Amino acid sequence: MKTFTALLLLFPAGLLLAQPPQLEKLEKKTILLFTPHPDDDTFCCAGTLALLARHGNNIHIVIYTNDDKGSYDPEMTGERLAAIRKTEEENSCRILGIPKQNIHWLQFHDGMLEYANPLDLVEQVTKIIRTYRPDVVMTIDPGSEYVRWHKTDHRMAANNTIDAIRAAEWHLYFPSQRLHDGLEPWQVPVEAYFYVTQKDANYWVAIDEVLDLKLSAAAAHVSQFEPSIRKYRPDWDPKDLASIKKYLQGRAIKKDGHVVESFRIATQFNQQ
Ligand SMILES: [Zn+2]
Repeated sequence: MKTFTALLLLFPAGLLLAQPPQLEKLEKKTILLFTPHPDDDTFCCAGTLALLARHGNNIHIVIYTNDDKGSYDPEMTGERLAAIRKTEEENSCRILGIPKQNIHWLQFHDGMLEYANPLDLVEQVTKIIRTYRPDVVMTIDPGSEYVRWHKTDHRMAANNTIDAIRAAEWHLYFPSQRLHDGLEPWQVPVEAYFYVTQKDANYWVAIDEVLDLKLSAAAAHVSQFEPSIRKYRPDWDPKDLASIKKYLQGRAIKKDGHVVESFRIATQFNQQ
């Protein structure tokens, strides 16, 4: 019954379980997105985030790692790469309408999230959820093949976030957060899982009107692409920029004549 009440408050007008909530139509809600690296949020959801930002939603991006490993440039150092990735993420978010003060870095090293203390990690993310009390959590789908077989950070971030969503609603998990920090339990009403396989997706956001913004936001991650990933340069040669945007546009998911981003929307903890 609590599920039903929460959804009625969040998604009125009969948009309940039979029909997934219209994510991109939300206004003035709090959206908390968890991403393992500073670019997954862009590649999965930049169009949806641009629409949500336009509608006055309060979007916070929580990034598990500082992404300090992914460069082939022999001159690159981890410290420098982390700083580059931070600036690129800020540039990307600015294009989408998300200010840099809404980006939160947990600062784990790239590829090392799986070796963090699991109890500390879930406690840390539980605290973030209880602090921001989001109407929607966006996070990687723990069940998709892409997550299971991709980088360790993706598996760990996906599973950790959903464990924290569960813990956040029960006051007996990490009770010191309530006793010492005054943080009450919080039941996340809706999750929007990204990096879903097409068979798991149950909701698609048409992003045609913000596709250019998405491509520009993706291209802001200069060091993630050739040629910068091999020999770092902070900017694009115009012809490389045109070709990467064309490549990304070609990879975009299409459905019913629209460019879309796919999600698996679920309500509360593990319910469909
Ligand atoms: Zn990633």
